[in-house]
Amino acid sequence: MYRKIFEFIDSCEETAVELQIELTKRPAVSPVSGGEGELDKCLFLEKWLKEHGIDTLERYDAPDPSAKGGVRPNLTAVIEGTNGALPCFWIMSHLDVVPAGDLSLWNSDPWIVTRKDGKLTGRGVEDNQQGLVSSVLAALAFVKLKIRPEHTLKLLFIADEECNSNFGINWLMENKRQLFKKGDFVLVPDSGDPAGETIEIAEKNSLWLKVRTSGVQAHAAYPEKGRNACLAGADLMLRLRKDLMKKFSARDSLFDPDYSTIEPTKKEANVPNINTIPSEDVFYMDIRLLPRYRVNDLLEEARRVKLGIEQEYGVQVDLSIVQSKESEATPADSPIVKMLSVACKQVLGRDTRTIGIGGGTVAAFLRNEEIDAVGWCTLDNSLHQPNEYCVIKNMLDDAKVMAHIAAQSKFAMQSEFMAQK
Ligand SMILES: [Zn+2]
Repeated sequence: MYRKIFEFIDSCEETAVELQIELTKRPAVSPVSGGEGELDKCLFLEKWLKEHGIDTLERYDAPDPSAKGGVRPNLTAVIEGTNGALPCFWIMSHLDVVPAGDLSLWNSDPWIVTRKDGKLTGRGVEDNQQGLVSSVLAALAFVKLKIRPEHTLKLLFIADEECNSNFGINWLMENKRQLFKKGDFVLVPDSGDPAGETIEIAEKNSLWLKVRTSGVQAHAAYPEKGRNACLAGADLMLRLRKDLMKKFSARDSLFDPDYSTIEPTKKEANVPNINTIPSEDVFYMDIRLLPRYRVNDLLEEARRVKLGIEQEYGVQVDLSIVQSKESEATPADSPIVKMLSVACKQVLGRDTRTIGIGGGTVAAFLRNEEIDAVGWCTLDNSLHQPNEYCVIKNMLDDAKVMAHIAAQSKFAMQSEFMAQK
């Protein structure tokens, strides 16, 4: 069975390239980035899927008056599995793309795909049309060969991934949560490495902190008449970093770097002249905690340090959250991780390893709803750059891995899922 599926996928190279060309012609740029949204691209994809025999489609439109048609479309395609008792296998890719950027840096029109040396070039061909097309090929194999996968395979094409997902997966989680059943698992083919060896299962909990120190302005020759906000702020910056690094000092080899990062970053200007003691000081910190630590616990510790500074310098310090994101990790022994690593080994002869990352991804929205989600695909990471490209072979190979996961049952027995959940 697998051999037939893989041969079919290999025979689809021209179909995949055609689909990439058509998708790229329809720039699904978010209205906040100056585009019209995903409607044209989604309508095209719906039509294309229907014409190719994938007709169990459902649209979930998030209202957005600033987008074409007043909506940001999310689309699902369902390939029924043989075992309805099993959880569903979702492959989630995104329809939207980032703008082309500086056109003079492109060697060709970003919205017209060029093909050379086994690669396609164009905006969106890697991020995220490569993963999108791979998932379509996997589904197509089952439909065309009239083979039913073991798991029900659900393709999810979401809007608004490049901005904040408020019209995409975040909106679906808030308005259509019932789409996902307990135990369902999700592959997000939107992050990876050129060898396709890393499975992303966790991200650090992040916090952007704004620290405002207020003192009293004075002539720099008579500092005792003022309260130096710059001095107090500088001391606070160093103490925060030192104390927090000490308190949140665990190591976790899943991550690179393997520790929580606590870095002062942006600094706002204060007085324009050198001989004035400033009454205001504002700096920011970018904090990324290992998942075992909670943002609130860090804030509590930061407030303790701040109190010490306020007392010592007679200033007032205000800590405010610019942005904060927390998510659970997907367990390294969860069924999707096992099935994916088995598929990589059996289909491509690859050994995989699990990793965590410092930045935030859409998988966090799923993990926070107790849905196991992993990021994986094989890509050179040319995304968001001029001359973004996709390696055609990666697109086909990843499709085989996806089909293998949908078809395999070894790690998907009901009892094992029940024990896990
Ligand atoms: Zn992406």
